[in-house]
Amino acid sequence: MGTLNSNAKISKNQVISENVKNILLSLGENINRDVLLETPNRVAKAYAQIFSGYGENPKEILSKQFDQSCQGKVIVKNIEFYSMCEHHFLPFFGNVDIEYVPRSNRIVGLSKLVRLVECYSKRLQIQEKLTREIAQAIFDNISCKHVKVRIRAEHLCMKMRGVKNQNSVAETEHEVFCERGEDNKSALTTF
Ligand SMILES: [Zn+2]
Repeated sequence: MGTLNSNAKISKNQVISENVKNILLSLGENINRDVLLETPNRVAKAYAQIFSGYGENPKEILSKQFDQSCQGKVIVKNIEFYSMCEHHFLPFFGNVDIEYVPRSNRIVGLSKLVRLVECYSKRLQIQEKLTREIAQAIFDNISCKHVKVRIRAEHLCMKMRGVKNQNSVAETEHEVFCERGEDNKSALTTF
């Protein structure tokens, strides 16, 4: 991981743009239609934002910690996210709740938890993996006794295609905690 240099960025955008042209052609579109001329480039630029998480390092995001006496839980609720389903390449989006119990007096700034959610959600994902990765990254990088992450999300792949279930909301929860010293246990619940 790391930051791509500008040449790599240009060629990646070009590759995506060329492939979007192919998709438009496969759909039977005329790619020389005025309105469509810039569409492949626009999609490539949008993808750079939508998939910016590939260039982010969770360890780095959580590395800046500070001393703060903290007896109880840290809870951050309703962190908004937008992600892309890796099965159908369609968006899913919703909210993340994070809670953790620090082991020592080292905690991270609340904005870092928001950045961590962005780092994992702006990649191809499935909700269960997204939930687990956020919880595990907190457990691995902040000294804590217990982490719980819960995600509520709507999936366009369930609304626009397949079962066409308009009102469903998927909830997932992942917990990581220590038991008997340093052994860690984890559990994933899908509602
Ligand atoms: Zn899907």
